[in-house]
Amino acid sequence: MSQLRVRFAPSPTGYLHVGGARTALFNWLLARKEGGIFILRIEDTDLERSTKESVDAILEGMSWLGLEWDEGPFYQTESFPLYKQQVQRLLDEGKAYKCYCRAEELEEKRNLAMQEGRKPKYDGTCRELQGDAGDRPYVVRFRAPQGGVTSFDDLIKGTITFPNEELDDLIIQRTDGSPTYNFCVVIDDATMAITTVIRGDDHVNNTPRQIQLYEALGYPVPRFAHVPMILGSDKARLSKRHGATSVIAYRDMGFLPEALLNYLVRLGWSNGDDEIFSREEMVEKFAITSVGRSASVFNTEKLLWLNAHYIKNSSPARLAELLLPHLSRRGVTTDGGPDLEKVIVTLQERAQTLEEMAERALFFYQAPASYDEAALAKFDKGHLQAVFGAVDEKLAAAGVVEPAAIDALFKEICADNGWKMGQVGQPVRIALSGGTQAPGIGEIVAALGIAETRLRLQKAREYVTL
Ligand code: GLU
Repeated sequence: MSQLRVRFAPSPTGYLHVGGARTALFNWLLARKEGGIFILRIEDTDLERSTKESVDAILEGMSWLGLEWDEGPFYQTESFPLYKQQVQRLLDEGKAYKCYCRAEELEEKRNLAMQEGRKPKYDGTCRELQGDAGDRPYVVRFRAPQGGVTSFDDLIKGTITFPNEELDDLIIQRTDGSPTYNFCVVIDDATMAITTVIRGDDHVNNTPRQIQLYEALGYPVPRFAHVPMILGSDKARLSKRHGATSVIAYRDMGFLPEALLNYLVRLGWSNGDDEIFSREEMVEKFAITSVGRSASVFNTEKLLWLNAHYIKNSSPARLAELLLPHLSRRGVTTDGGPDLEKVIVTLQERAQTLEEMAERALFFYQAPASYDEAALAKFDKGHLQAVFGAVDEKLAAAGVVEPAAIDALFKEICADNGWKMGQVGQPVRIALSGGTQAPGIGEIVAALGIAETRLRLQKAREYVTL
């Protein structure tokens, strides 16, 4: 069998949508699994809506997800001469014809058909015209087969059949000479020798027209796999209304690429009850034929759960690299402050996103500007003074900065003074972080270092005497 060749073919009219990313992922997985080739093609023939920013955003999203392509990016606008030449070929072979019907005439006929309850369809006025009608403006239409059916075995949806009489003589070239969408897709997929077309099921209706074109052009017809849509919680097609839909927005909200990929692969595909898939496992287990036939609902809670899982299981070094942009967006630099990897170790068990982690990491790099008054008010000032003093004294004499050793010091302080852990830990946590939502005391002190911890205790001690 020939080598598998698949492609992701986004139109650069916006950012990379999570639905598009999932289509890209399915293509990529299949290529990696079968030792095939994954091609990136930018469908930019809509000159008004396509932008360079969108192209960049799509490439950025793909790269962030690690969906590296083997060939491309190819741009359809670079193939205009090829499309023109192929339109001419169909004209020469009598498989396409020039149609001189004016837009208003067609509009009137369409309205009439609708009024009479008929399906609006081109009536074939110019189909049998002989010769050219001077230099009047024309479109080029494909001479579609009139009887019979066009059918294909979708790898996901099974056999889909369309009666040919429902299919118009498709316009393949507009009056201004530009080729139309379905025609370009066929020429590209054929010349790129695509063997399997995996795309959203919003393209199912285009497929019979495309198959007819392949046949007319004498190209082998690829296999098709139409992936069901992603819906929002209200079962409407996922859109901005439901929250973020851009891959880059998920990056900026602090999701890890492996969490988003894991989430996307499970949207519509399953392998028993397994939920967690590394990239390698996905490649090993993925099968396009086990993608489900029904649409999937986007569930942010589950994505958060997966993200927390990946945060917990990532190395602090990797998280540090990913966390830095989230910190610098908050104006925080880690230079001269506690070691970021140590800080991360204190936070990674509990953070669902890198944004949350960045927020919780702030106090390590910025001494609290204020304290949680309500939490402080639970202790009397004399007690707070005594605690801050005792801890300061112990730390001054301590040579160690390992969390476990510091926790042991705190136990000693409690034992020496007859205090319970909550009576010491909570005030110290407030002194060091400003609030009560911080990680374990030993971990905080170890990351902050003895000197910084003592400074903060000193400040808090001054504060409570006021
Ligand atoms: N450019 C089309 C889209 O973004 C994809 C077409 C295809 O995959 O055949 O929806």
